[in-house]
Amino acid sequence: MFNFLRIENLWKSFSAEVLDTFLKQDLVRKWALKQGEKELYRIFIVENPDKRPKKVEELRYRVMSNLLRTVDKALSDGRISPQVRKAVIKNFVENVIIGESDRQKPFREKYGFDPPTFLTISPTKHCNLHCKGCYAASSAKDYEKLSYDVLKWIIESKRKEWGSNFTVISGGEPLMYESDGHTLFDLFEEFNDTYFMMYTNGTLITKEVAKRLAELGNVTPAISVEGFEKETDERRGKGVFKRILKAFENLREAGVPFGISATATRYNVDTLMSDKFVDFYFEKEGAIYGWIFQYMPIGRSFTLDLVVTPEQRLMMYKREEYMIYNRNIFLVDFWNGGPISVGCISAGRSGGYFFIDWNGHASPCVFFPYYVADVNEIYKKGGTLTEILMHPLLKSIRAWQNAYGYKREAKDVKNYIVPCPIRDHYKFAYGVICKTGAKPMDKNAEEALNDEKYREGLIKYGKDVAKLTDPIWKKDYIEPEIKEEEEKKGKSIKKGA
Ligand code: SF4
Repeated sequence: MFNFLRIENLWKSFSAEVLDTFLKQDLVRKWALKQGEKELYRIFIVENPDKRPKKVEELRYRVMSNLLRTVDKALSDGRISPQVRKAVIKNFVENVIIGESDRQKPFREKYGFDPPTFLTISPTKHCNLHCKGCYAASSAKDYEKLSYDVLKWIIESKRKEWGSNFTVISGGEPLMYESDGHTLFDLFEEFNDTYFMMYTNGTLITKEVAKRLAELGNVTPAISVEGFEKETDERRGKGVFKRILKAFENLREAGVPFGISATATRYNVDTLMSDKFVDFYFEKEGAIYGWIFQYMPIGRSFTLDLVVTPEQRLMMYKREEYMIYNRNIFLVDFWNGGPISVGCISAGRSGGYFFIDWNGHASPCVFFPYYVADVNEIYKKGGTLTEILMHPLLKSIRAWQNAYGYKREAKDVKNYIVPCPIRDHYKFAYGVICKTGAKPMDKNAEEALNDEKYREGLIKYGKDVAKLTDPIWKKDYIEPEIKEEEEKKGKSIKKGA
């Protein structure tokens, strides 16, 4: 989600050994942390090379600095084992952050823009749970999966074509993936220069699995929770919460850094945004990072009735700011956090991603279930991942992102608190899906596309959320830009006079 290019220079001057020596000594690490924060401040706030709205860069600076602090805390508490620390330096810092810009150069020179930084891949639809409203509509009865050969080809291709060494794995349940005698552990081992974030329900993270993840050092699990025991068991099944706590314990014992991910509906949103929630998962259980995904009306039994209300969404935006500024944690809402990601990152945007599911169907985003290519066919004919980027749907969305804000002057950037083409600007999404002939990824997506009430409901939702958040956007993000420009103009007129 974040373009790490900016902090590349921070690490470049250190070798892995020097960095490891730094990180294992508390005093030296504290000093390094301060230097790191200063450098982040210089890059985001002082230099702001892409001339984003200052408030956008301030939020991004805060989030990155919170992440550094949390990692520092985890190293002090021994929550990241020395073995994992070394592996993370090698796999994440050396292979993902350092040299990214150089690895992207051939693509940039050929196509005139930066490639996506990562892909999200769901290798299997199979899952051991049957959660209410699952976006992937997964269950134990579903066996669709990518073959191991295709999966390998995807990871190799993104590395070769885009210099991308970061991959997100999603579900079904990734730990249930099995193909031709291979599991995901084979993939993690084979691509030890790639860093993986794996969304998982956590129920299969035994002591052995945690130990294996520690040995590999290039995977961080993001475990799904819905709130506390009541909310989690209600959606995911009885007893799941206790199994998740066991998974946390196993990961802590093995010293593997982990995060959480939570789906916000209008019924659990107050819990997710509460201090109690943060105290429990971040302070007590030791999560390093957290993602909030607002329930998206796609997937099993999709319904607009679960979507957080516009008023709740506004509350979430304010609470997210509070978490970032006051609780100093990395807890980011995938939608309201639009300023942090500089808007929508789908459709293979520079620094962004696109999605590939278990059938090999490639779509702009996990939450945009209309596909434009079958990766299995591309693999068979000897094609490239880059050809997917050139599909009219992805190109249209990227053009929309650029016009919305990504390529606009700071004072003209549109409201990033509502950044999502499919959720907040459905009229655009609907039009572009129909125009470019993208195909629904499943029956639910087809029904949604043909459901007039759904369409009207989402369009109205977008308008209502914009009405509530536009004044904040204008006041906090845009007016300071206009004021600064006017001041500059005033000064230059005075000089001229
Ligand atoms: S399409 Fe929506 S959910 Fe997907 S990256 Fe863009 S803003 Fe986020």
